[in-house]
Amino acid sequence: MLKDLKLFLELLHPYRFRVRLALVIGGIAGLCTGAGITIGAEKLFGIVLNGSQGMPLGSVIAIASIFPILFLVIGICTFLSTYHLNHAGLSVIRDLRAQLFSHIQRLPLAFFQTKTTGDLIARLTADTQAMQYALTITGRDLAIAPLTFLGAVSMLAYKGCEHDGVIYIYCSIALLPLVIFPVRKLTQKLGQKARTQQEELATVTNDLSQNIGAAKEVRAFNLQDRENKRFALRLSELFSSQMKVVKYTFSLSPVVEIISSVGLASAFVIGYYKGVTGEVFIAIFAALYFSYAPIKRISYLAGELRKGSESLKRIREILAESIGIEEPTNPADIDNLRGEITFRKVSFAYGETPALSEVSTEIEPGCVCALVGPSGAGKSTFANLVPRFYDVDSGSIRLDGVDIREIDILTLREKMAIVTQDPVLFDDSIMENIRLGRESATDQEVVQAAKQAYANDFIEQQENGYETIVGERGIRLSGGQKQRIAMARAFLRNAPILILDEATSALDSESESMIQKALDQLVLGKTVLTIAHRFSSIKNASKILVFDSGRIIDEGGPKELYHRCPLYRNLYDQQTF
Ligand code: ATP
Repeated sequence: MLKDLKLFLELLHPYRFRVRLALVIGGIAGLCTGAGITIGAEKLFGIVLNGSQGMPLGSVIAIASIFPILFLVIGICTFLSTYHLNHAGLSVIRDLRAQLFSHIQRLPLAFFQTKTTGDLIARLTADTQAMQYALTITGRDLAIAPLTFLGAVSMLAYKGCEHDGVIYIYCSIALLPLVIFPVRKLTQKLGQKARTQQEELATVTNDLSQNIGAAKEVRAFNLQDRENKRFALRLSELFSSQMKVVKYTFSLSPVVEIISSVGLASAFVIGYYKGVTGEVFIAIFAALYFSYAPIKRISYLAGELRKGSESLKRIREILAESIGIEEPTNPADIDNLRGEITFRKVSFAYGETPALSEVSTEIEPGCVCALVGPSGAGKSTFANLVPRFYDVDSGSIRLDGVDIREIDILTLREKMAIVTQDPVLFDDSIMENIRLGRESATDQEVVQAAKQAYANDFIEQQENGYETIVGERGIRLSGGQKQRIAMARAFLRNAPILILDEATSALDSESESMIQKALDQLVLGKTVLTIAHRFSSIKNASKILVFDSGRIIDEGGPKELYHRCPLYRNLYDQQTF
Protein backbone atom coordinates (compact mmCIF):
# COMPACT_ATOMS: atom_id res chain seq x y z
CA MET A 1 0.00 0.00 0.00
CA LEU A 2 2.81 2.44 0.87
CA LYS A 3 4.29 2.02 -2.62
CA ASP A 4 0.94 2.78 -4.24
CA LEU A 5 0.43 5.70 -1.89
CA LYS A 6 3.85 7.12 -2.80
CA LEU A 7 2.95 6.96 -6.50
CA PHE A 8 -0.22 8.91 -5.89
CA LEU A 9 1.44 11.46 -3.61
CA GLU A 10 4.00 12.11 -6.35
CA LEU A 11 1.17 12.84 -8.76
CA LEU A 12 -0.42 15.19 -6.26
CA HIS A 13 2.85 17.06 -5.72
CA PRO A 14 1.92 20.10 -7.86
CA TYR A 15 -1.19 20.53 -5.71
CA ARG A 16 0.56 19.84 -2.41
CA PHE A 17 -0.66 23.03 -0.73
CA ARG A 18 -4.30 22.08 -1.25
CA VAL A 19 -3.61 18.46 -0.24
CA ARG A 20 -1.88 19.56 2.98
CA LEU A 21 -4.76 21.89 3.79
CA ALA A 22 -7.23 19.04 3.19
CA LEU A 23 -5.18 16.71 5.38
CA VAL A 24 -5.07 19.22 8.25
CA ILE A 25 -8.82 19.90 8.04
CA GLY A 26 -9.53 16.15 7.66
CA GLY A 27 -7.28 15.53 10.66
CA ILE A 28 -9.48 17.82 12.78
CA ALA A 29 -12.54 15.84 11.69
CA GLY A 30 -10.67 12.61 12.54
CA LEU A 31 -9.64 13.78 16.00
CA CYS A 32 -13.15 15.03 16.73
CA THR A 33 -14.48 11.61 15.77
CA GLY A 34 -11.89 9.42 17.49
CA ALA A 35 -11.30 11.40 20.69
CA GLY A 36 -14.20 13.92 20.79
CA ILE A 37 -17.03 11.42 20.47
CA THR A 38 -15.37 9.14 23.04
CA ILE A 39 -15.12 11.99 25.60
CA GLY A 40 -18.65 13.14 24.75
CA ALA A 41 -20.00 9.62 25.24
CA GLU A 42 -18.35 9.35 28.66
CA LYS A 43 -19.74 12.70 29.84
CA LEU A 44 -23.22 12.12 28.49
CA PHE A 45 -23.58 8.56 29.73
CA GLY A 46 -22.05 9.56 33.09
CA ILE A 47 -25.10 11.79 33.63
CA VAL A 48 -27.58 9.30 32.21
CA LEU A 49 -26.28 6.34 34.21
CA ASN A 50 -25.50 8.11 37.51
CA GLY A 51 -28.36 10.61 37.53
CA SER A 52 -28.01 14.38 37.26
CA GLN A 53 -29.71 15.53 40.48
CA GLY A 54 -28.32 18.76 41.72
CA MET A 55 -26.63 19.66 38.44
CA PRO A 56 -27.48 23.16 37.17
CA LEU A 57 -29.61 23.17 33.99
CA GLY A 58 -26.94 25.21 32.20
CA SER A 59 -24.35 22.45 32.73
CA VAL A 60 -26.78 19.76 31.55
CA ILE A 61 -27.50 21.74 28.37
CA ALA A 62 -23.78 22.36 27.87
CA ILE A 63 -23.04 18.61 28.09
CA ALA A 64 -26.03 17.79 25.86
CA SER A 65 -24.68 20.27 23.26
CA ILE A 66 -21.39 18.36 22.96
CA PHE A 67 -22.73 16.08 20.21
CA PRO A 68 -24.40 18.72 17.99
CA ILE A 69 -21.26 20.88 18.22
CA LEU A 70 -18.98 17.90 17.55
CA PHE A 71 -21.00 16.79 14.52
CA LEU A 72 -21.12 20.37 13.21
CA VAL A 73 -17.32 20.58 13.35
CA ILE A 74 -16.93 17.05 11.90
CA GLY A 75 -19.43 17.85 9.11
CA ILE A 76 -17.81 21.16 8.10
CA CYS A 77 -14.27 19.75 8.27
CA THR A 78 -15.23 16.59 6.33
CA PHE A 79 -16.88 18.70 3.61
CA LEU A 80 -13.92 21.09 3.28
CA SER A 81 -11.37 18.30 3.34
CA THR A 82 -13.28 16.26 0.72
CA TYR A 83 -13.77 19.37 -1.44
CA HIS A 84 -10.07 20.25 -1.51
CA LEU A 85 -8.95 16.66 -2.06
CA ASN A 86 -11.38 16.30 -4.94
CA HIS A 87 -10.09 19.57 -6.38
CA ALA A 88 -6.50 18.30 -6.24
CA GLY A 89 -7.44 14.79 -7.46
CA LEU A 90 -9.50 16.00 -10.40
CA SER A 91 -6.73 18.46 -11.33
CA VAL A 92 -4.28 15.55 -11.46
CA ILE A 93 -6.66 13.59 -13.69
CA ARG A 94 -7.17 16.60 -15.99
CA ASP A 95 -3.38 17.06 -16.29
CA LEU A 96 -2.79 13.36 -16.87
CA ARG A 97 -5.46 13.15 -19.59
CA ALA A 98 -4.01 16.23 -21.30
CA GLN A 99 -0.47 14.84 -21.04
CA LEU A 100 -1.57 11.46 -22.42
CA PHE A 101 -3.52 13.06 -25.27
CA SER A 102 -0.67 15.36 -26.21
CA HIS A 103 1.80 12.44 -26.08
CA ILE A 104 -0.46 10.41 -28.38
CA GLN A 105 -0.39 13.34 -30.87
CA ARG A 106 3.41 13.05 -31.05
CA LEU A 107 3.69 9.28 -31.34
CA PRO A 108 4.81 7.93 -34.72
CA LEU A 109 2.32 6.29 -37.09
CA ALA A 110 4.00 2.93 -36.45
CA PHE A 111 2.74 3.08 -32.84
CA PHE A 112 -0.87 2.99 -34.00
CA GLN A 113 -0.24 -0.36 -35.69
CA THR A 114 0.61 -1.89 -32.30
CA LYS A 115 -2.34 -0.52 -30.32
CA THR A 116 -6.04 -0.65 -31.05
CA THR A 117 -8.28 2.42 -30.97
CA GLY A 118 -10.38 0.90 -28.17
CA ASP A 119 -7.33 0.21 -26.05
CA LEU A 120 -6.18 3.82 -26.30
CA ILE A 121 -9.67 5.18 -25.62
CA ALA A 122 -9.98 2.87 -22.58
CA ARG A 123 -6.65 4.08 -21.19
CA LEU A 124 -7.65 7.71 -21.68
CA THR A 125 -11.12 7.27 -20.17
CA ALA A 126 -11.67 4.14 -18.02
CA ASP A 127 -8.15 4.01 -16.57
CA THR A 128 -8.06 7.69 -15.71
CA GLN A 129 -11.55 7.23 -14.22
CA ALA A 130 -10.29 4.41 -11.98
CA MET A 131 -7.45 6.65 -10.85
CA GLN A 132 -9.85 9.50 -10.22
CA TYR A 133 -11.78 7.23 -7.86
CA ALA A 134 -8.63 6.21 -6.03
CA LEU A 135 -7.49 9.82 -5.72
CA THR A 136 -10.72 11.49 -4.67
CA ILE A 137 -13.05 9.05 -2.91
CA THR A 138 -10.31 7.37 -0.96
CA GLY A 139 -8.38 10.60 -0.42
CA ARG A 140 -11.03 11.59 2.08
CA ASP A 141 -10.35 8.47 4.13
CA LEU A 142 -6.67 9.10 3.89
CA ALA A 143 -7.14 12.45 5.61
CA ILE A 144 -9.67 11.41 8.22
CA ALA A 145 -9.15 7.73 9.06
CA PRO A 146 -5.55 7.83 10.44
CA LEU A 147 -6.39 10.67 12.85
CA THR A 148 -9.63 9.05 13.94
CA PHE A 149 -7.51 6.01 14.78
CA LEU A 150 -4.90 8.14 16.55
CA GLY A 151 -7.55 10.04 18.54
CA ALA A 152 -9.27 6.83 19.61
CA VAL A 153 -6.02 5.11 20.60
CA SER A 154 -4.90 8.20 22.58
CA MET A 155 -8.20 8.11 24.44
CA LEU A 156 -7.64 4.44 25.24
CA ALA A 157 -4.14 5.26 26.59
CA TYR A 158 -5.51 8.13 28.68
CA LYS A 159 -8.24 5.97 30.16
CA GLY A 160 -5.64 3.29 30.85
CA CYS A 161 -3.69 5.74 33.06
CA GLU A 162 -6.85 7.05 34.73
CA HIS A 163 -8.54 3.78 35.64
CA ASP A 164 -7.02 0.63 36.96
CA GLY A 165 -8.12 -2.50 35.18
CA VAL A 166 -8.94 -0.72 31.92
CA ILE A 167 -5.49 -1.65 30.74
CA TYR A 168 -6.68 -5.23 30.32
CA ILE A 169 -9.21 -4.11 27.78
CA TYR A 170 -6.37 -2.98 25.54
CA CYS A 171 -5.42 -6.57 25.10
CA SER A 172 -8.25 -6.57 22.59
CA ILE A 173 -6.31 -4.09 20.37
CA ALA A 174 -3.61 -6.73 20.16
CA LEU A 175 -5.80 -8.27 17.48
CA LEU A 176 -5.24 -5.28 15.15
CA PRO A 177 -2.03 -6.56 13.51
CA LEU A 178 -3.95 -9.69 12.51
CA VAL A 179 -5.86 -7.54 10.04
CA ILE A 180 -2.72 -6.70 8.05
CA PHE A 181 -2.03 -10.18 6.65
CA PRO A 182 -5.37 -10.93 4.97
CA VAL A 183 -5.59 -7.31 3.74
CA ARG A 184 -2.17 -7.52 2.12
CA LYS A 185 -2.98 -10.84 0.39
CA LEU A 186 -6.36 -9.65 -0.81
CA THR A 187 -5.07 -6.32 -2.19
CA GLN A 188 -2.37 -8.14 -4.18
CA LYS A 189 -5.02 -10.34 -5.79
CA LEU A 190 -7.18 -7.30 -6.36
CA GLY A 191 -4.38 -5.56 -8.28
CA GLN A 192 -4.06 -8.48 -10.73
CA LYS A 193 -7.82 -8.75 -11.22
CA ALA A 194 -8.17 -4.99 -11.70
CA ARG A 195 -5.60 -5.05 -14.50
CA THR A 196 -7.39 -7.88 -16.29
CA GLN A 197 -10.66 -6.00 -15.89
CA GLN A 198 -9.20 -2.86 -17.51
CA GLU A 199 -7.83 -4.95 -20.39
CA GLU A 200 -11.23 -6.59 -20.96
CA LEU A 201 -12.82 -3.15 -20.90
CA ALA A 202 -10.38 -2.01 -23.59
CA THR A 203 -11.36 -5.00 -25.76
CA VAL A 204 -15.06 -4.19 -25.39
CA THR A 205 -14.41 -0.52 -26.29
CA ASN A 206 -12.42 -1.61 -29.30
CA ASP A 207 -15.11 -3.99 -30.54
CA LEU A 208 -17.67 -1.25 -30.13
CA SER A 209 -15.63 1.31 -32.05
CA GLN A 210 -14.89 -1.19 -34.84
CA ASN A 211 -18.54 -2.15 -35.12
CA ILE A 212 -19.77 1.45 -35.26
CA GLY A 213 -17.03 2.31 -37.77
CA ALA A 214 -18.17 -0.57 -40.00
CA ALA A 215 -21.93 0.14 -39.77
CA LYS A 216 -22.33 -0.11 -43.57
CA GLU A 217 -20.40 -3.40 -43.91
CA VAL A 218 -22.33 -4.99 -41.02
CA ARG A 219 -25.60 -4.28 -42.81
CA ALA A 220 -24.34 -5.09 -46.30
CA PHE A 221 -23.06 -8.52 -45.27
CA ASN A 222 -25.83 -9.23 -42.70
CA LEU A 223 -23.27 -9.51 -39.93
CA GLN A 224 -25.63 -8.43 -37.13
CA ASP A 225 -25.95 -11.90 -35.58
CA ARG A 226 -22.24 -12.55 -35.73
CA GLU A 227 -21.53 -9.14 -34.20
CA ASN A 228 -24.14 -9.65 -31.45
CA LYS A 229 -22.63 -13.01 -30.51
CA ARG A 230 -19.09 -11.62 -30.52
CA PHE A 231 -20.06 -8.65 -28.41
CA ALA A 232 -22.05 -10.78 -25.96
CA LEU A 233 -19.00 -13.01 -25.51
CA ARG A 234 -16.80 -9.98 -24.82
CA LEU A 235 -19.35 -8.64 -22.34
CA SER A 236 -19.51 -11.93 -20.46
CA GLU A 237 -15.69 -12.02 -20.26
CA LEU A 238 -15.75 -8.46 -18.92
CA PHE A 239 -18.54 -9.39 -16.49
CA SER A 240 -16.58 -12.30 -15.05
CA SER A 241 -13.44 -10.21 -14.52
CA GLN A 242 -15.53 -7.41 -12.98
CA MET A 243 -17.09 -9.91 -10.56
CA LYS A 244 -13.62 -11.04 -9.49
CA VAL A 245 -12.76 -7.42 -8.68
CA VAL A 246 -16.02 -7.11 -6.72
CA LYS A 247 -15.20 -10.33 -4.83
CA TYR A 248 -11.78 -9.14 -3.69
CA THR A 249 -12.88 -5.55 -3.02
CA PHE A 250 -15.75 -6.52 -0.77
CA SER A 251 -14.17 -9.46 1.02
CA LEU A 252 -11.73 -7.00 2.62
CA SER A 253 -14.25 -5.37 4.90
CA PRO A 254 -15.87 -8.53 6.41
CA VAL A 255 -12.37 -9.78 7.30
CA VAL A 256 -11.67 -6.59 9.23
CA GLU A 257 -15.16 -6.56 10.73
CA ILE A 258 -14.90 -10.12 12.06
CA ILE A 259 -11.51 -9.45 13.67
CA SER A 260 -12.69 -6.15 15.18
CA SER A 261 -15.90 -7.69 16.58
CA VAL A 262 -13.78 -10.35 18.32
CA GLY A 263 -11.77 -7.44 19.82
CA LEU A 264 -14.91 -5.68 21.02
CA ALA A 265 -16.33 -8.89 22.51
CA SER A 266 -13.08 -9.54 24.42
CA ALA A 267 -13.21 -5.95 25.73
CA PHE A 268 -16.71 -6.59 27.02
CA VAL A 269 -15.72 -9.79 28.84
CA ILE A 270 -12.56 -8.28 30.39
CA GLY A 271 -14.40 -5.08 31.39
CA TYR A 272 -17.20 -7.03 33.00
CA TYR A 273 -14.88 -9.06 35.25
CA LYS A 274 -12.70 -6.05 36.15
CA GLY A 275 -15.75 -4.11 37.30
CA VAL A 276 -15.25 -1.10 35.02
CA THR A 277 -17.97 1.54 35.57
CA GLY A 278 -20.71 2.08 32.95
CA GLU A 279 -19.65 5.46 31.51
CA VAL A 280 -15.95 4.51 31.36
CA PHE A 281 -16.91 1.26 29.73
CA ILE A 282 -19.01 3.08 27.07
CA ALA A 283 -16.14 5.51 26.43
CA ILE A 284 -13.72 2.57 26.03
CA PHE A 285 -16.17 0.79 23.78
CA ALA A 286 -16.52 3.90 21.58
CA ALA A 287 -12.74 4.34 21.46
CA LEU A 288 -12.28 0.70 20.50
CA TYR A 289 -14.92 1.04 17.79
CA PHE A 290 -13.23 4.17 16.45
CA SER A 291 -9.85 2.46 16.36
CA TYR A 292 -11.18 -0.49 14.33
CA ALA A 293 -13.42 1.51 11.95
CA PRO A 294 -10.51 3.50 10.37
CA ILE A 295 -8.58 0.26 9.89
CA LYS A 296 -11.54 -1.03 7.91
CA ARG A 297 -11.61 2.15 5.80
CA ILE A 298 -7.85 2.06 5.31
CA SER A 299 -7.97 -1.56 4.14
CA TYR A 300 -10.66 -0.58 1.62
CA LEU A 301 -8.47 2.35 0.63
CA ALA A 302 -5.53 -0.02 0.11
CA GLY A 303 -7.66 -1.99 -2.36
CA GLU A 304 -8.73 1.12 -4.25
CA LEU A 305 -5.14 2.42 -4.38
CA ARG A 306 -4.04 -0.95 -5.80
CA LYS A 307 -6.69 -0.77 -8.53
CA GLY A 308 -5.79 2.86 -9.25
CA SER A 309 -2.08 2.16 -9.46
CA GLU A 310 -2.68 -0.68 -11.96
CA SER A 311 -4.52 1.87 -14.10
CA LEU A 312 -1.70 4.36 -13.61
CA LYS A 313 0.73 1.72 -14.86
CA ARG A 314 -1.35 1.26 -18.02
CA ILE A 315 -1.35 5.03 -18.60
CA ARG A 316 2.39 5.27 -17.99
CA GLU A 317 3.02 2.48 -20.53
CA ILE A 318 1.73 4.85 -23.22
CA LEU A 319 3.59 7.85 -21.79
CA ALA A 320 6.78 5.77 -21.86
CA GLU A 321 6.35 5.04 -25.59
CA SER A 322 9.15 6.76 -27.41
CA ILE A 323 8.05 9.36 -29.94
CA GLY A 324 10.51 7.55 -32.20
CA ILE A 325 11.36 10.45 -34.44
CA GLU A 326 14.27 12.37 -33.01
CA GLU A 327 14.24 16.15 -33.26
CA PRO A 328 17.50 17.84 -34.34
CA THR A 329 19.23 19.91 -31.65
CA ASN A 330 20.23 22.61 -34.18
CA PRO A 331 17.54 22.48 -36.88
CA ALA A 332 18.53 23.52 -40.39
CA ASP A 333 16.92 26.61 -41.92
CA ILE A 334 14.67 25.79 -44.90
CA ASP A 335 12.80 29.08 -45.19
CA ASN A 336 13.47 29.45 -48.90
CA LEU A 337 12.95 25.85 -49.93
CA ARG A 338 13.15 25.26 -53.68
CA GLY A 339 11.71 21.76 -53.35
CA GLU A 340 14.46 19.45 -54.63
CA ILE A 341 13.96 15.93 -53.22
CA THR A 342 16.82 13.43 -53.23
CA PHE A 343 16.64 9.78 -52.12
CA ARG A 344 20.04 8.19 -51.47
CA LYS A 345 20.09 4.39 -51.08
CA VAL A 346 16.95 4.48 -48.95
CA SER A 347 15.80 1.22 -47.37
CA PHE A 348 12.77 0.84 -45.16
CA ALA A 349 10.84 -2.06 -43.63
CA TYR A 350 7.59 -2.22 -41.65
CA GLY A 351 8.84 -4.54 -38.91
CA GLU A 352 10.45 -7.47 -40.73
CA THR A 353 8.86 -6.89 -44.16
CA PRO A 354 11.06 -4.75 -46.44
CA ALA A 355 8.99 -2.17 -48.31
CA LEU A 356 11.81 -0.20 -50.00
CA SER A 357 15.31 -1.46 -50.82
CA GLU A 358 18.18 0.89 -51.68
CA VAL A 359 16.04 3.39 -53.52
CA SER A 360 17.89 6.34 -55.07
CA THR A 361 16.48 9.13 -57.19
CA GLU A 362 16.55 12.87 -57.65
CA ILE A 363 13.45 14.98 -58.13
CA GLU A 364 14.10 18.50 -59.44
CA PRO A 365 12.36 21.53 -57.94
CA GLY A 366 9.08 22.15 -59.77
CA CYS A 367 8.99 18.62 -61.16
CA VAL A 368 5.64 16.82 -61.32
CA CYS A 369 6.73 13.32 -60.49
CA ALA A 370 4.34 10.38 -60.80
CA LEU A 371 4.89 7.16 -58.91
CA VAL A 372 3.59 4.09 -60.75
CA GLY A 373 3.85 0.37 -60.26
CA PRO A 374 1.81 -2.65 -59.22
CA SER A 375 -0.03 -2.81 -55.91
CA GLY A 376 2.30 -3.21 -52.92
CA ALA A 377 5.34 -2.07 -54.90
CA GLY A 378 6.23 0.68 -52.38
CA LYS A 379 4.78 3.89 -53.89
CA SER A 380 2.90 5.03 -50.75
CA THR A 381 5.83 4.10 -48.56
CA PHE A 382 8.12 6.25 -50.74
CA ALA A 383 5.74 9.22 -50.39
CA ASN A 384 5.26 8.66 -46.62
CA LEU A 385 8.98 8.89 -45.92
CA VAL A 386 9.24 12.47 -47.21
CA PRO A 387 7.14 14.08 -44.40
CA ARG A 388 8.83 11.66 -41.93
CA PHE A 389 5.68 9.70 -41.14
CA TYR A 390 8.30 6.97 -40.82
CA ASP A 391 12.09 7.29 -40.63
CA VAL A 392 14.35 5.52 -43.11
CA ASP A 393 16.19 2.42 -41.84
CA SER A 394 19.25 3.28 -43.91
CA GLY A 395 20.25 5.84 -46.51
CA SER A 396 18.96 9.41 -46.48
CA ILE A 397 16.34 11.73 -47.91
CA ARG A 398 17.36 15.31 -48.62
CA LEU A 399 15.44 18.49 -49.36
CA ASP A 400 17.58 21.03 -51.24
CA GLY A 401 20.54 18.95 -50.08
CA VAL A 402 19.57 19.04 -46.36
CA ASP A 403 18.93 15.70 -44.67
CA ILE A 404 15.28 15.80 -43.50
CA ARG A 405 16.39 14.52 -40.07
CA GLU A 406 18.21 17.87 -39.68
CA ILE A 407 14.96 19.82 -40.11
CA ASP A 408 12.50 20.61 -37.34
CA ILE A 409 9.60 18.22 -37.91
CA LEU A 410 6.83 20.85 -37.75
CA THR A 411 8.74 23.12 -40.17
CA LEU A 412 9.28 20.17 -42.51
CA ARG A 413 5.59 19.32 -42.61
CA GLU A 414 4.64 23.00 -43.04
CA LYS A 415 6.43 22.86 -46.38
CA MET A 416 4.14 20.09 -47.63
CA ALA A 417 0.50 19.73 -48.56
CA ILE A 418 -0.83 16.20 -48.56
CA VAL A 419 -4.03 14.91 -50.11
CA THR A 420 -4.65 11.28 -49.16
CA GLN A 421 -6.72 8.56 -50.83
CA ASP A 422 -9.49 8.81 -48.27
CA PRO A 423 -9.44 12.36 -46.90
CA VAL A 424 -10.63 12.63 -43.32
CA LEU A 425 -12.82 15.56 -42.41
CA PHE A 426 -13.54 16.61 -38.85
CA ASP A 427 -17.08 16.98 -37.51
CA ASP A 428 -17.02 20.73 -38.01
CA SER A 429 -18.08 23.31 -40.61
CA ILE A 430 -16.79 23.17 -44.18
CA MET A 431 -15.11 26.53 -43.56
CA GLU A 432 -13.11 25.18 -40.61
CA ASN A 433 -12.30 21.93 -42.42
CA ILE A 434 -10.71 23.84 -45.27
CA ARG A 435 -8.98 26.23 -42.87
CA LEU A 436 -7.01 23.26 -41.49
CA GLY A 437 -4.77 23.82 -44.52
CA ARG A 438 -3.58 27.07 -42.94
CA GLU A 439 -4.97 28.03 -39.57
CA SER A 440 -4.30 31.75 -40.03
CA ALA A 441 -6.25 31.96 -43.33
CA THR A 442 -9.12 34.47 -43.57
CA ASP A 443 -12.64 33.48 -44.68
CA GLN A 444 -11.97 35.09 -48.08
CA GLU A 445 -8.82 33.02 -48.53
CA VAL A 446 -10.76 29.85 -47.65
CA VAL A 447 -13.46 30.69 -50.24
CA GLN A 448 -10.76 31.47 -52.82
CA ALA A 449 -9.11 28.06 -52.18
CA ALA A 450 -12.50 26.34 -52.49
CA LYS A 451 -13.04 28.07 -55.83
CA GLN A 452 -9.65 26.90 -57.07
CA ALA A 453 -10.55 23.33 -56.07
CA TYR A 454 -13.93 23.63 -57.87
CA ALA A 455 -15.66 23.11 -54.52
CA ASN A 456 -17.31 26.53 -54.16
CA ASP A 457 -20.43 25.66 -56.20
CA PHE A 458 -21.42 22.57 -54.25
CA ILE A 459 -20.57 24.25 -50.93
CA GLU A 460 -22.86 27.19 -51.70
CA GLN A 461 -25.67 24.77 -52.54
CA GLN A 462 -25.48 23.25 -49.04
CA GLU A 463 -28.15 24.36 -46.59
CA ASN A 464 -25.77 26.47 -44.52
CA GLY A 465 -23.13 27.06 -47.18
CA TYR A 466 -19.63 27.21 -45.68
CA GLU A 467 -21.08 26.81 -42.18
CA THR A 468 -22.55 23.37 -42.97
CA ILE A 469 -21.39 20.75 -40.47
CA VAL A 470 -20.01 17.76 -42.37
CA GLY A 471 -20.55 15.02 -39.72
CA GLU A 472 -18.08 12.53 -38.33
CA ARG A 473 -15.30 11.90 -40.88
CA GLY A 474 -17.35 13.99 -43.34
CA ILE A 475 -20.15 11.40 -43.60
CA ARG A 476 -22.67 13.92 -44.96
CA LEU A 477 -20.56 14.56 -48.08
CA SER A 478 -19.89 12.44 -51.16
CA GLY A 479 -16.45 10.97 -51.82
CA GLY A 480 -15.82 13.49 -54.60
CA GLN A 481 -16.93 16.42 -52.43
CA LYS A 482 -14.66 15.30 -49.59
CA GLN A 483 -11.77 15.08 -51.96
CA ARG A 484 -12.38 18.56 -53.32
CA ILE A 485 -12.38 19.92 -49.76
CA ALA A 486 -9.08 18.14 -49.19
CA MET A 487 -7.80 19.73 -52.42
CA ALA A 488 -8.97 23.16 -51.20
CA ARG A 489 -6.89 22.63 -48.04
CA ALA A 490 -3.88 21.97 -50.24
CA PHE A 491 -4.54 25.13 -52.28
CA LEU A 492 -4.78 27.11 -49.06
CA ARG A 493 -1.55 25.70 -47.70
CA ASN A 494 0.31 26.70 -50.85
CA ALA A 495 3.35 24.64 -49.80
CA PRO A 496 6.38 24.11 -52.07
CA ILE A 497 5.91 20.32 -52.01
CA LEU A 498 2.66 18.56 -52.87
CA ILE A 499 1.97 14.89 -52.15
CA LEU A 500 -1.10 13.57 -53.91
CA ASP A 501 -2.08 10.02 -53.06
CA GLU A 502 -4.60 8.96 -55.69
CA ALA A 503 -5.97 12.44 -55.26
CA THR A 504 -8.42 12.23 -58.12
CA SER A 505 -9.64 8.66 -57.56
CA ALA A 506 -12.99 9.62 -56.00
CA LEU A 507 -13.95 12.14 -58.65
CA ASP A 508 -16.31 11.64 -61.57
CA SER A 509 -14.74 12.38 -64.92
CA GLU A 510 -16.20 15.90 -65.04
CA SER A 511 -14.84 16.85 -61.60
CA GLU A 512 -11.61 15.09 -62.43
CA SER A 513 -11.06 17.20 -65.49
CA MET A 514 -11.88 20.35 -63.48
CA ILE A 515 -9.46 19.31 -60.76
CA GLN A 516 -6.88 18.47 -63.35
CA LYS A 517 -7.12 22.03 -64.69
CA ALA A 518 -6.84 23.41 -61.15
CA LEU A 519 -3.92 21.13 -60.39
CA ASP A 520 -2.13 22.36 -63.50
CA GLN A 521 -2.25 25.82 -61.89
CA LEU A 522 -1.39 24.62 -58.39
CA VAL A 523 1.66 22.63 -59.36
CA LEU A 524 3.36 25.56 -61.05
CA GLY A 525 6.68 26.13 -59.31
CA LYS A 526 6.07 23.23 -56.88
CA THR A 527 7.54 19.80 -56.53
CA VAL A 528 4.78 17.23 -56.79
CA LEU A 529 4.76 13.55 -55.88
CA THR A 530 1.62 11.94 -57.21
CA ILE A 531 0.62 8.33 -56.69
CA ALA A 532 -1.89 7.84 -59.47
CA HIS A 533 -3.06 4.50 -60.74
CA ARG A 534 -5.04 6.15 -63.49
CA PHE A 535 -2.66 6.97 -66.23
CA SER A 536 -4.94 9.71 -67.56
CA SER A 537 -4.18 11.78 -64.48
CA ILE A 538 -0.41 11.59 -64.90
CA LYS A 539 -0.06 12.35 -68.55
CA ASN A 540 1.29 15.79 -67.65
CA ALA A 541 3.96 14.36 -65.37
CA SER A 542 7.46 15.56 -66.18
CA LYS A 543 8.99 12.47 -64.61
CA ILE A 544 7.72 8.99 -63.78
CA LEU A 545 9.26 6.60 -61.25
CA VAL A 546 8.40 2.94 -61.91
CA PHE A 547 8.27 0.84 -58.73
CA ASP A 548 8.43 -2.92 -58.48
CA SER A 549 8.94 -4.98 -55.28
CA GLY A 550 10.30 -2.05 -53.28
CA ARG A 551 12.73 -0.83 -55.96
CA ILE A 552 12.69 1.87 -58.60
CA ILE A 553 13.28 -0.17 -61.73
CA ASP A 554 13.16 2.71 -64.19
CA GLU A 555 12.49 6.42 -64.43
CA GLY A 556 11.94 8.97 -67.16
CA GLY A 557 9.29 10.67 -69.28
CA PRO A 558 6.04 8.85 -70.27
CA LYS A 559 7.01 8.30 -73.92
CA GLU A 560 10.51 7.01 -73.35
CA LEU A 561 9.29 4.68 -70.57
CA TYR A 562 6.57 3.25 -72.80
CA HIS A 563 9.23 2.21 -75.29
CA ARG A 564 11.86 1.18 -72.78
CA CYS A 565 10.15 -0.31 -69.69
CA PRO A 566 8.03 -3.49 -70.18
CA LEU A 567 6.37 -3.18 -66.72
CA TYR A 568 5.32 0.41 -67.43
CA ARG A 569 4.07 -0.56 -70.90
CA ASN A 570 2.01 -3.44 -69.43
CA LEU A 571 0.46 -1.23 -66.77
CA TYR A 572 -0.28 1.44 -69.34
CA ASP A 573 -1.79 -1.00 -71.85
CA GLN A 574 -3.95 -2.67 -69.19
CA GLN A 575 -5.55 0.68 -68.48
CA THR A 576 -5.97 2.04 -71.92
CA PHE A 577 -7.27 -1.08 -73.72
P1 ATP B 1 -0.95 0.32 -53.50
O1 ATP B 1 -0.81 0.80 -54.88
O2 ATP B 1 -1.73 -0.95 -53.42
O3 ATP B 1 -1.41 1.35 -52.54
P2 ATP B 1 1.84 0.71 -52.84
O4 ATP B 1 2.71 0.56 -54.03
O5 ATP B 1 1.52 2.09 -52.41
O6 ATP B 1 0.52 -0.15 -53.00
P3 ATP B 1 2.85 0.33 -50.19
O7 ATP B 1 1.58 0.73 -49.53
O8 ATP B 1 3.98 1.29 -50.13
O9 ATP B 1 2.57 -0.09 -51.68
O10 ATP B 1 3.31 -1.04 -49.54
C1 ATP B 1 4.59 -1.62 -49.77
C2 ATP B 1 4.69 -2.90 -48.92
O11 ATP B 1 4.66 -2.60 -47.56
C3 ATP B 1 3.55 -3.88 -49.17
O12 ATP B 1 4.09 -5.18 -49.14
C4 ATP B 1 2.63 -3.71 -47.99
O13 ATP B 1 2.00 -4.92 -47.65
C5 ATP B 1 3.59 -3.27 -46.90
N1 ATP B 1 2.95 -2.31 -46.00
C6 ATP B 1 2.40 -1.12 -46.34
N2 ATP B 1 1.96 -0.47 -45.26
C7 ATP B 1 2.23 -1.25 -44.20
C8 ATP B 1 2.04 -1.14 -42.81
N3 ATP B 1 1.47 -0.06 -42.29
N4 ATP B 1 2.45 -2.14 -42.03
C9 ATP B 1 3.05 -3.23 -42.52
N5 ATP B 1 3.27 -3.40 -43.82
C10 ATP B 1 2.87 -2.44 -44.67
